[in-house]
Amino acid sequence: GESIAKVDPEIAKVLDQELHRQQTTLEMIASENFVPRAVLQAQGSVLTNKYAEGYPGKRYYGGCEYVDVAENLAIERAKSLFGADHANVQPHSGASANAAVMHALANAGDTLMGLSLAHGGHLTHGMKINFSGKLYNIAAYEVDPETGRIDMDRVREQALQAHPNVIVAGWSAYPRQLEFEAFRSIADEVGAKLWVDMAHFSGLVAAGLHPSPVPFADVVSTTVHKTLAGPRSGLLLAKQDLAKKVDSAVFPGQQGGPLMHVIAAKAVALKLAATEEFKERQQRTLEGAQILAERLGQADAKEAGIELLSGGTDVHLVLVDLRKSSIDGQQAEDLLHEIGITVNRNAVPNDPRPPRVTSGLRIGTPALATRGFGAAEFTEVADVIATALTGKGDIEQLRGRVRTLAENTPLYADLTQY
Ligand code: PLP
Repeated sequence: GESIAKVDPEIAKVLDQELHRQQTTLEMIASENFVPRAVLQAQGSVLTNKYAEGYPGKRYYGGCEYVDVAENLAIERAKSLFGADHANVQPHSGASANAAVMHALANAGDTLMGLSLAHGGHLTHGMKINFSGKLYNIAAYEVDPETGRIDMDRVREQALQAHPNVIVAGWSAYPRQLEFEAFRSIADEVGAKLWVDMAHFSGLVAAGLHPSPVPFADVVSTTVHKTLAGPRSGLLLAKQDLAKKVDSAVFPGQQGGPLMHVIAAKAVALKLAATEEFKERQQRTLEGAQILAERLGQADAKEAGIELLSGGTDVHLVLVDLRKSSIDGQQAEDLLHEIGITVNRNAVPNDPRPPRVTSGLRIGTPALATRGFGAAEFTEVADVIATALTGKGDIEQLRGRVRTLAENTPLYADLTQY
């Protein structure tokens, strides 16, 4: 057939422009990454044509002999990478994985206890107009206003009062590690199931650079496209006794046909996540976040009213608290965009500004680590960000420094796909 450039020049142009944007700007959205070419190839393949409702060896469609191989590889690699009893690789996304978890662990009207969205939790952990907030009774916990951290004594007190059926430990915007063992013991004490949503930090877990929730949780969900650096999708891990429940919650509970091209791409990403190279990249990711935290903690930033939630980070992101700064989250995001750095504004706990504006920024290092950033490049980008946010820099000059960093760390240089 004809190429996309011929068939649909408007969309071909979007692909070209987006590739160029990714190549020439610095991606610091904490939930994003760059997939390797092998993942793009699997995802852009003829496997997209195949219906495969059911599971390997138990399909409701013929012709699944090859896609079965792909799904079995993805399952085996996920189990081995994370040391899990059972894996389900069919969730289309993190949100649909989470819907399946709740479907497997609870009934409508049961109580779910998760980190409040305003304090760094995800929409699917009980936000009012999300399925989770509509179907379940929500008892949200929050971070301690002084430390910015989750206080496990308070989580326990709250659990003793609320009697949740399910406790979810996980976050979208929180710069610290969670205490999985303490969550497990609270869940046991109140008779709740423990679900860990490791969407953000699963790449760090895979590399052995973050405690694993797998030994403690009944079910673990994750996205595959954040630190894990695979195709946009979800993944579930479960203890053996919940395997059947989880599988039937995904299909036929939540989804129809699985996206076999995405599952093949997941298999590729999970293979790569077991390599030394991947581990080394996750180390640079953490190192970059440390460098960023240190730079944004210096005197000039403090004087400009810039603070870090919890005072630092032990993961792949920092949360900048701009409540005392003269610029808000929206202005800060726009300012960095103007110089070629992409981040997202993010509410901070007890944010006085509305969610569309916010008083915070979430800045992450996974995508730049994938791009090849090491200590020197992270030091330079951290200084560019601090200079911009303190209002000291000349915009043209900052833009030039960003451009140089991008040029020195080429991305998808061999990609001439359109
Ligand atoms: N869970 C957490 C903790 C997340 O941060 C996210 C993504 O932002 C999700 C789930 C949802 O993933 P998706 O956007 O693929 O639905």
